[in-house]
Amino acid sequence: MTRRYFLESALLAQGWAQGALVSVSDDGRITAIDTPSTHRAAPSGAENIAGFVVPGMANAHSHAFQRAMAGNTEFRLSARDSFWTWRQAMYTLANRIEAEDLQILATQLFIEMLKSGYTSVAEFHYLHRQSNGDLYPGANGLWDAIGAAATAAGIGLTFLPTLYQASDFGAQPLKSEQRRFAMDTEFFLRAVESRVGAERRHAPATLRTGAAFHSLRAVPPRALREATLALRNIDATLPVHIHVAEQLQEVQACKLATGRRPIELLLDSGLLTQYWCLVHATHATVQELQGIVAAAATVCVSISTEANLGDGLFDASRFLKLGGRVCVGSDSQSTVCPAEELRWMEYQQRLRKKRRAVLAGKTEPHVGTRLWRDAAQHGAQAIGQPAAAIAVGQRADWLVLDATHPSMAGATAQTALDHLLFAGGSAAIRDVMVAGRWVIRDHHHAAEDHLRGRFAQVMGQYRAP
Ligand SMILES: [Zn+2]
Repeated sequence: MTRRYFLESALLAQGWAQGALVSVSDDGRITAIDTPSTHRAAPSGAENIAGFVVPGMANAHSHAFQRAMAGNTEFRLSARDSFWTWRQAMYTLANRIEAEDLQILATQLFIEMLKSGYTSVAEFHYLHRQSNGDLYPGANGLWDAIGAAATAAGIGLTFLPTLYQASDFGAQPLKSEQRRFAMDTEFFLRAVESRVGAERRHAPATLRTGAAFHSLRAVPPRALREATLALRNIDATLPVHIHVAEQLQEVQACKLATGRRPIELLLDSGLLTQYWCLVHATHATVQELQGIVAAAATVCVSISTEANLGDGLFDASRFLKLGGRVCVGSDSQSTVCPAEELRWMEYQQRLRKKRRAVLAGKTEPHVGTRLWRDAAQHGAQAIGQPAAAIAVGQRADWLVLDATHPSMAGATAQTALDHLLFAGGSAAIRDVMVAGRWVIRDHHHAAEDHLRGRFAQVMGQYRAP
């Protein structure tokens, strides 16, 4: 049965509309949008939606298990604390976590994502084996935990099984603390193929399988090439993600081992396409940024994680000027809020350039509207889900901003997203729809109260020493 919604004020693909009658099919797709000038109230049979309706955001990069680390690694261990010392703490967690706890953490996390405006998530998942290092004999409990959590929360999921084979450049063998991540190429390809086949048969509305290479450290060039070509045969539009050029030490090690910088190496491979998402790309040269634009690949930044880990500054100003496609992710989960990611993408550039409104567009002077609209569109591209905008053929994934919330006071359609980014974060997000289903109503998720105690219990087990 088709449902109809009358959106009083909505950011559609072509811009803001005052009064839009939107039809949504059973499978959660938008089948028609009518914006006649004569509609002044909801026609009978349509649900009236007051407030500002904007597209939901794709979270293009997440490691759900790291939710257990948020707030637990913010103290000094030595004068040389860095990404690399944080990684050691992450390995310790990764070696302890079991599927049941992961499912609780991920369900809580995905509800937090929905409440902050992420309506779908790409889970870059490299926890593959049991804690003793053996493969699961049957269904993979850790993989299934993510799928079950996404279903329970009602968030869109692009699951990215992640290839992980080496501890450093030059195909160095894995260390004992990395044994749960180990996966050979054949197993990886069979797993992706079987999931893609199942999705073709059942066509789930909110689930997609992609693939990831952990990094150029963890996947040697030859394995990366062979796997990429084989993945294309499985699904020519498969989303493919990789961590790249996040840390200077990684760039230097790559140059030493291969004679090239990491992004340069990827570009020279000729493998990049619009289906690739480069995660971080923090230390990219101008030529590398141009190469990424030419390949039409996306870059996913997670400014909060990059700041938390002391990675460096991505040159968003130059990349956007070149026509680059940027999306955002919550990555290590120290911050789960797309408005905050986008605010800090702009603020980094203001601090660097000592100017304001640096990332406003040529045709969109409002920083909030420009960054939100474009990140939603490019995030959907990165995760391979039809959730780029409120438009016919796309999924009905949207947020309703409460126009009566103090952070929205005085906002018009033109400034509503400026208010969201710069005046209140996610506080004004009242309702959230994913695939035509309300998953957050009046700031509340149906499962959150029930989950709270179990989540606290799990977090207690992983608390800081
Ligand atoms: Zn990551």
